[in-house]
Amino acid sequence: MKSTIAALTILLTAITAAAQTAPPSNGERLMAHALESSGAWETLQYLTDDIGPRLSGSKGAALAVQWTTARFRSWGIAVRDEKVMVPHWVRGEERASLVSHNGQKIVLTALGGSVATPVRGITADVIEVSNFDELDRLGNKVRGKIVYYNNPMNMDLVRSGHSFEAYEEAVRYRGAGASRAAKYGAVASLIRSVASASLRDPHTGAMRYDPKLPKIPAAAMTIEDAMLVDRLIRKGERVRMHLVLTPKTLPDADSANVVAEIRGSERPDEIVLVGAHLDSWDLATGAIDDGSGVAMSMEVLRLIKDLGLHPRRTIRCVLFMNEENGLRGGRGYAAAHKDEIGRHAAAIETDAGAAAPTGFSTNVSGEALTSLESRVHPLLARVNAARFEQSSEAGADISPLTDAGVPSFGLISDPLHYFDYHHSPSDTLDKIDPKDFAADTAALAALTWEIADSTEPLRAK
Ligand SMILES: [Zn+2]
Repeated sequence: MKSTIAALTILLTAITAAAQTAPPSNGERLMAHALESSGAWETLQYLTDDIGPRLSGSKGAALAVQWTTARFRSWGIAVRDEKVMVPHWVRGEERASLVSHNGQKIVLTALGGSVATPVRGITADVIEVSNFDELDRLGNKVRGKIVYYNNPMNMDLVRSGHSFEAYEEAVRYRGAGASRAAKYGAVASLIRSVASASLRDPHTGAMRYDPKLPKIPAAAMTIEDAMLVDRLIRKGERVRMHLVLTPKTLPDADSANVVAEIRGSERPDEIVLVGAHLDSWDLATGAIDDGSGVAMSMEVLRLIKDLGLHPRRTIRCVLFMNEENGLRGGRGYAAAHKDEIGRHAAAIETDAGAAAPTGFSTNVSGEALTSLESRVHPLLARVNAARFEQSSEAGADISPLTDAGVPSFGLISDPLHYFDYHHSPSDTLDKIDPKDFAADTAALAALTWEIADSTEPLRAK
């Protein structure tokens, strides 16, 4: 009996020791390395502080392509630039004042793609509408006037974790407002910045013209200025504005997607894409949108290389150009790689900020998702990123792949404050907490690795 107990004790001790010394899995090693390394932060800092704003066609965008390409090369990772032509819109002077109210300054910014006002500007009455139905009811009454869409974000949605839904609703007036107003003879179109907070900073973003209608200038007022105009109009006062915008659209410019990869050891033809967009708006340095995504995606490859890991499938990092005002990079990638779209085992995009991670949006569902979750949950739970949300679109740049049935994922960060800074002069590095950012990077590295190194194929359904 004594000897049996002694033997059991020895066995138990041996098992415990084995459990304690069991080497960490590659996914665990990657996550640990991501959490302790400052590599991604250094990349993000250079991209934002040293290079700066990166609007398509700008010097900053060209430098970002050169620098990220050189970075991959310095890490010993194969990289190439894949040419895309991009729109080249340049912001000019932008100012407005209320001639009806002592020339008070109105702070605003042109929407991306807007045409200019005449050199001396436009002076016209402002007419406010809450939505397109109201505009249609007014019809020709807006002729000769500046149409102002009062389109606040639904803050109940924002506060309950649904910032992106609130954004989708409010942003319709940014995209289509100018042409809808031009149809009835308006001379300019204004929106309230699509933002969830403001310290009198205007938020820009892309707009598009209906080619069948006249092009009128379009701008976003700060929330504060938009509310001022709204208060005056509600009091029944006539509001007359002087508006000067001098942006230019130049011929399309040469640019590129940056494509880097670590070849798979067993299934090199199968690709797990991880990416983000390299361009940003011009008002700030695009730290949150999307310098953070770029730095995280690059870091995934650097960490794998640094640890000497060899994934079964090829891991390809794509830094897309021109997500903000044309999506030429996303469309260009899908066109250039159309013969291998079916060989993309997954596409993962990071373009939703750099606050603490919560999980991933995905088009993968049913048994495929259950099986994936059971494998990745233990890893992702370490950084509270284990929640998967169903979505038909995981990221704009990868949307052509998602539409073609490629299993797609988008990293989700806590969205509460995302639209406080989005597309505004305040999207700068200081808004990001390095700890949250490291957790995002660790979550992205873990999911990328687990899909790329899995022995099982992943299907969207
Ligand atoms: Zn973005």
